[in-house]
Amino acid sequence: MLFGYSLALNEYVDANRLEPNDCGLLKVCCPACKQPVSLLEVNGHRSLAHVQPFFDDPAFRCDGPVADLTLEQREQQNLSARNKRTEMIRWDFLIPLLGKDPLANYEDDTEVILGKLRASGAMRWLSRWHREMSADVCGKTCNDPIEFRSEGERHLALLEMPCRIDIPAHGYVRQAHFQIGFDLLQSLLTGKKGANEDYDWLFVHAVKLCLPQWKNEARLDGAEGEEYPKDADAMEREKIAAARIIVGQFCDLLLEDRAKHIKAIEVLTELEMKPPMTPIPMPLLSYISLDILHAMKATLFRLPYLSMLSEHDSETNAYESTYPHILAATDAREVSYGDFV
Ligand SMILES: [Zn+2]
Repeated sequence: MLFGYSLALNEYVDANRLEPNDCGLLKVCCPACKQPVSLLEVNGHRSLAHVQPFFDDPAFRCDGPVADLTLEQREQQNLSARNKRTEMIRWDFLIPLLGKDPLANYEDDTEVILGKLRASGAMRWLSRWHREMSADVCGKTCNDPIEFRSEGERHLALLEMPCRIDIPAHGYVRQAHFQIGFDLLQSLLTGKKGANEDYDWLFVHAVKLCLPQWKNEARLDGAEGEEYPKDADAMEREKIAAARIIVGQFCDLLLEDRAKHIKAIEVLTELEMKPPMTPIPMPLLSYISLDILHAMKATLFRLPYLSMLSEHDSETNAYESTYPHILAATDAREVSYGDFV
């Protein structure tokens, strides 16, 4: 058969887009009988074939998916599944997923830690302002899933701790991972009911990641009485000075004291970051906002959606309990294509 049905994604998948391990990881089955299938490759052409009958039921018969299931119908089902999944992640999994971000290191309850930050001073105002800016920026640059994945791949390649990243290494399953992150970003930017609140959670998570990074750039520790480190050239000094303003003013932004808050906004709006540190001159507030937006997107690149969905998917679990020997064999790459031809 030329396409199968992934129980993990609730989507139809084309055989020619799959790699051998995808069938086990995505729980790909025959769309007609829901029995597990495996990938065959003959002369460069990929197709799917039933696995189950070859193990314990030689009398098994299935003619595969019904012929009149059109590409349009399959795409409709896939779009509907993606929308449902995005809603489900936002309702049930967003905060637990943020707790699994390997770069955030939440020692205690994620919701409590982020909740405190979210409730502090002007965070709600900042988040709302940021959301409007992001919708504008992302409307121009973040609406292409292919570009989203390219950016994500570059981000993951630069990470220093790849062993802690719980996402698929390659194949269609990796594409599905990025598609989930992309759908989530699009959904958070819609401004629809519930999306704004979820945007706030991702926003404070990103701020939590950015603050230590800014403090690091500001070299507030280790200067040992000197205004700047001895090895810093003119550009480095300018960068350090900007980072110090950002750290100081951003902390004031989060205060309840309205006068300090307004003053911080004024300073961050008036002062500019200039080339070569930025491609174009921009107020520090815009520079900070883009930094936070980048941290938000980077978070979406590395959250372990598929393993979390798999843990909670009862249909997937049923599949595993029904066919444990097949999954075990597929995972261990012990299934030979020759067995099914
Ligand atoms: Zn079948």
